[in-house]
Amino acid sequence: MENPACWVMTECPQGKILRESLEALSAGLAFQKQYRMETVVLWTGARPEDAQLDYLASLGVRRVICLEGARGEGEKEEALLFGLQGLYLRHKPQYMFFGASPRSLSLAPMLAALLEVGYVAKATYLRRVGDTLSLTRPSMQGALSEVLRFLPPTHGMASLYPRAFDVPGPSESLPGEKLIPEIYPLPQHEERSQNWEVVERTLEPAEALDVEDAEVVVAGGKGMGSEANFALLQDLASCLGGAVAASRIVVDIGWAPKERLVGQTGKKVFPELYIACGISGAHQHRAGMKEARHILAINTDPQAPIFQIATWSILGDAPQVVSQMIRQLRELREAN
Ligand SMILES: Cc1cc2nc3c(=O)[nH]c(=O)nc-3n(C[C@H](O)[C@H](O)[C@H](O)COP(=O)(O)OP(=O)(O)OC[C@H]3O[C@@H](n4cnc5c(N)ncnc54)[C@H](O)[C@@H]3O)c2cc1C
Repeated sequence: MENPACWVMTECPQGKILRESLEALSAGLAFQKQYRMETVVLWTGARPEDAQLDYLASLGVRRVICLEGARGEGEKEEALLFGLQGLYLRHKPQYMFFGASPRSLSLAPMLAALLEVGYVAKATYLRRVGDTLSLTRPSMQGALSEVLRFLPPTHGMASLYPRAFDVPGPSESLPGEKLIPEIYPLPQHEERSQNWEVVERTLEPAEALDVEDAEVVVAGGKGMGSEANFALLQDLASCLGGAVAASRIVVDIGWAPKERLVGQTGKKVFPELYIACGISGAHQHRAGMKEARHILAINTDPQAPIFQIATWSILGDAPQVVSQMIRQLRELREAN
């Protein structure tokens, strides 16, 4: 018998709930409101503190399950995987949602494969149709939008596209009762049935931050003028903790690799801030970035289409404006 609950894996490194987990929680809470499914926070890491539980309660969460007790850093991911497997088999939630954090994106497909449950990666929209879940996601590098659904029995797992869902706000209903987490220990090594091992883990350099994951995207177009000027964008992105993106022309002429392409044939991004430097704003480019929360456009042409969707516009030479922004941000950082 299915449990009409929707579990949300929630990561909280260094005491702060990840934004990606909150985005997944937002999807879960929408299900609780619209379809009366119970949203359960699956808390991983150190036991939640009272303030964190109060915060979750204020969002409308009514149940928290906490998996705790890995033996060592290196072992955590495998322990978590088998812990999640055990909990899932015990409770059989109908759906499980994962945010787009690196750990969740790595665990979710492994868990789905272990449990032989349907899994859809990087969904941008979720809704119930009848008694099944319909999921929308970009495919063919954003050129197509696919709608998929889980076939009965309708258990399923999904990870969410970064920034496609908002962070949840306080619940409109009265605050719930105090949350008391249900604590489950992670399984010890000898309790697991594991026929594989992790051979190596490598840390990606900061400049490799994926455009899809970044809160701030600094994008450059032909108007940056040269490859050397285009390289300035990495400095600006580093000052803002963001990632560099590019228009198609820039990728075609080799100033940026194709993983940085945003648009109809590139990636679709939903950052807090998209800085478009020397980009005309052709509709094929806008297809990948128009849903950014804020857009700052820098262009010398007042008629450039990018200005039609910009939150803030700067009419000026992009390399000069970018250099000035870098200088001022560095001065600001030194002053603090
Ligand atoms: C099937 C198809 C799919 C496509 N897919 C994509 C896609 O996924 N992504 C994508 O980006 N494009 C895509 N394109 C290409 C798209 O149509 C545009 O040609 C491209 O986005 C233009 O790139 P751009 O804005 O960098 O260059 P341009 O169109 O050349 O614009 C340069 C801009 O820089 C400004 N400028 C010039 N000098 C300066 C300066 N010194 N300072 C500030 N501004 C300056 C100009 O005013 C102009 O607005 C696709 C096209 C097709 C046909």
